[in-house]
Amino acid sequence: MMPEKIIPYKIYLEEEEMPRQWYNVRADMKNKPAPLLHPGTLQPITFEELREVFCDELARQELNDTDAYIDIPQEILDFYKMYRPSPLVRAYCLEKKLDTPAKIYYKFEGNNTSGSHKLNSAIAQAYYAKQQGLKGVTTETGAGQWGTALSMACSYFDLDCHVYMVKVSYEQKPFRREVMRTYGAQVTPSPSDTTKVGRKILEEFPGTGGSLGCAISEAVEAAGEREGYRYVLGSVLSQVLLHQSIIGEETKAALRKYDIKPDMIIGCAGGGSNLGGLISPFVGEKIRGEADYRILAVEPASCPSLTRGKYVYDFCDTGKVCPLAKMYTLGSGFMPAPNHAGGLRYHGMSSVVSQLYDDGLIEAVSVEQTAVFKAAEEFARVEGILPAPESAHAIKAAVDEAVKCKETGEEKTIVFGLTGTGYFDMVAYGKFHDGQMVDYIPSEEDLAKGFAGLPPVPGI
Ligand SMILES: *Cc1c(COP(=O)(O)O)cnc(C)c1O
Repeated sequence: MMPEKIIPYKIYLEEEEMPRQWYNVRADMKNKPAPLLHPGTLQPITFEELREVFCDELARQELNDTDAYIDIPQEILDFYKMYRPSPLVRAYCLEKKLDTPAKIYYKFEGNNTSGSHKLNSAIAQAYYAKQQGLKGVTTETGAGQWGTALSMACSYFDLDCHVYMVKVSYEQKPFRREVMRTYGAQVTPSPSDTTKVGRKILEEFPGTGGSLGCAISEAVEAAGEREGYRYVLGSVLSQVLLHQSIIGEETKAALRKYDIKPDMIIGCAGGGSNLGGLISPFVGEKIRGEADYRILAVEPASCPSLTRGKYVYDFCDTGKVCPLAKMYTLGSGFMPAPNHAGGLRYHGMSSVVSQLYDDGLIEAVSVEQTAVFKAAEEFARVEGILPAPESAHAIKAAVDEAVKCKETGEEKTIVFGLTGTGYFDMVAYGKFHDGQMVDYIPSEEDLAKGFAGLPPVPGI
């Protein structure tokens, strides 16, 4: 018998082992995600309509339910080389601390300046915009991770980048703002007087701190008004999940290298892009009957779209300018409680992740934020990395599963996605340390208000 391979603390891939294609799980899904609908006609959106908002190639990717593998262009592979492969880490120290027979691995995506996985899609979106000869792109950002990643990607390809940043974040997170400006982005606090929709909102609500929905509407309007600009989005869309499949493909290759077979794969879920990207290749194997895994999406109890939402068509933005998507949603008017500090505050969920969940291919749990920060701190103290609060949702679930293994004596192999670092979230950590953080779980009544705003979509 061959001796068991010793698993290193970090598993990296050699150049020739690196994935060169993204994997499109939609091609293997028996029940395809429902099509996006045009917000005006409520009919499935066409390529011609979609290309008015997004770059041509990205619109094509958005509508592509048939090609399982899509070549990653060489320029993007070259950029990936600057920070990829991301390490797959065997959490030896955490296992020891938990005294569990479980084997825990995490795929760490925080090893780039933007601090999260969002750069994987930002660089792809910037590349296709450049290819098309566009001048620039517009987007919104809340806490700032997506805006930062996009700024880096645009500066690499010498594209203009205009970020509408939710005003409260703009004021409260000046460091994020300055990182974006360092990479040459123009950052405007939203709502602003530079767009029609911004001026209207300012008139109605003077002094408002803004919202993601409003920033999206401003970014979409700004792209539409300017020649040679398109709007880009950092999560939720199927094209973003496609780009993020680099996480799952690398994870699969790293596991294969050491003959590791995971029992469980865990990811945090906001709009679903890191989760979708991590699990896609594994879900593909599951659908094709080649392997079986437990797959777990982890969301905040204060914004529980999968575990308590409805699977219906909804607006993707509060401004109702974007196409409608069928997804697990709390309603586009749903706002998590103001004391919710842990991110993952999007009201809906990627259509791909939603369909996989509806088909029973993945499970979901929700966790409360004080428990999330407790897990984050425990993790930081033994594994060294200071996790983003979003990522800590996955840590919390992985720790819970590892503790269960201790009780049952099962030697399960658990893989989770550690999406990023939390250096810009220290105000939230501070609240946790000072005992000022509270848990908030929306009541049925709170949720009913969000559901009341769901659009009636006849015949679909
Ligand atoms: C944006 C973000 C998330 C959540 O977004 P998804 O699209 O659900 O992946 C999770 N972790 C970090 C660090 C993020 O920046």
